[in-house]
Amino acid sequence: MPATLALRNPVSTDVVREIELAGAAEVDAAVARASAAAPAWRAVAPADRARLMRRFADTIAAHADELALLETQNMGMPIGNSTWCANAAADVIHYFAGAIDKHTGSTIPVAGGVDVTFHEPLGVVGLITPWNFPVLMASWKIGPALAAGNTAVLKPAEITPLTAMRLGELALEAGLPEGVLNVVVGTGAEAGWRLVEHPDVRKVAFTGSTAVGKRIMAGCAEQVKRVTLELGGKSANIVFADADIDAAAASAPGAVFDNSGQDCCARSRVLVQRSVFDRFLERFIEASKGFTIGDPMSTDTAMGPLVTAQHLERVRAFTDGLATVYTGPTPSGPGYWHPIMIATPSDADAAICRDEVFGPVAVVIPFDDEADAIRICNDSVYGLSGSVWTGDGSRALRVVRAMDAGTISVNSNSSVRYSTPFGGFKQSGLGREHSMAVLDHYTELKNVFIATGA
Ligand code: NDP
Repeated sequence: MPATLALRNPVSTDVVREIELAGAAEVDAAVARASAAAPAWRAVAPADRARLMRRFADTIAAHADELALLETQNMGMPIGNSTWCANAAADVIHYFAGAIDKHTGSTIPVAGGVDVTFHEPLGVVGLITPWNFPVLMASWKIGPALAAGNTAVLKPAEITPLTAMRLGELALEAGLPEGVLNVVVGTGAEAGWRLVEHPDVRKVAFTGSTAVGKRIMAGCAEQVKRVTLELGGKSANIVFADADIDAAAASAPGAVFDNSGQDCCARSRVLVQRSVFDRFLERFIEASKGFTIGDPMSTDTAMGPLVTAQHLERVRAFTDGLATVYTGPTPSGPGYWHPIMIATPSDADAAICRDEVFGPVAVVIPFDDEADAIRICNDSVYGLSGSVWTGDGSRALRVVRAMDAGTISVNSNSSVRYSTPFGGFKQSGLGREHSMAVLDHYTELKNVFIATGA
């Protein structure tokens, strides 16, 4: 008897759907389907593969409202955000459809012949995605995996699998050949781990916690399996005294409370130059009051509940007893609600300042000068994202170059786009997603020397 899981709406806490959980045998069957489909898929002419992927993208866009509703019911994301995510997923697939015939090899001058390189598909790739942006994270991995000529087995987080399951159906509807994209819903420990262990899976692309990412990397080492990891963060939002303080404060709530803080890029450490600390804090709190928490089905809602009761408990373990300078409201009635919290802890080593909370909680920390800001920013095991707010262009460049982080914005908190590389330094990950750069992580580079006799 397969195990089942009841998925709950995080607002009503009612069961949305019961799903059967796949085990290792179902993963093996999916890998077998992907393996069988691989030779034909890599042989599809680039323009035809692009056409099929564009049809897939258009099909996703045509079902964006349906996907958004599934996402909101399954994980509590406000409907405006989930609609954006579903449309963005279609855009991501379009981007990689367009990238197929632009990922070119090179010719290298050598003596006695010609040297050429090819980007060869890996074969079957395993894609393991998290619960915080289900449809979007799935598209981030499906797009480059298929564009590069691989076939894929996608294992979404078991608690938010509905949009990924639908993507699998939409791929077939759009005309992608059977076996090219396979979606298997099971636990990480069983179904996810089987992708790590399966000898026919040539690469694992993972997004999730740093703790699990480390285990996956170690597991992949057994077969020298390719692995890319997009892991946690504790990103810094650095505000200098010469910045437009109003703009920085108005933007700061969205940078950390968006998706209820369940975002690997959340700028959850707000570093503010001491001379403007009080002024910034007052405006940050004011702006946070306007970040409305409530029914995710309302288009006026900025922030919904947390994903599950278990995750709420995990976040509360950080925030119970936390001294805050602002604690926002929560709706009455059922739901996995956690208020917005802003704190100014004096102990820089406190867990709230160092660990990824993955909830709507910001710490605001003063700094003295540029060197101090960089020191505090880099004093973290993580290095995913971050922002610098300043009116001085030279300072902006000096600071971003000194930050140990992979995805940074200046006078903005928006740094993730499908056309630009995304990923982390240090324990925030390995490899990059997005842009042409990601295609190198889904292909092997083959070098060929052809003797010409002269
Ligand atoms: P996990 O890292 O446990 O889960 C992410 C994905 O990995 C899920 O699909 C999960 O499957 C799968 N997984 C879990 N264990 C294994 C394993 N041994 N082998 C293969 N796959 C596995 O994250 P959690 O959901 O437990 O969240 C915990 C914390 O991780 C969060 O609070 C947050 O701090 C961080 N996180 C960071 C994310 C990011 O975007 N960087 C995303 C999600 C979480 P399943 O869920 O089905 O068990």
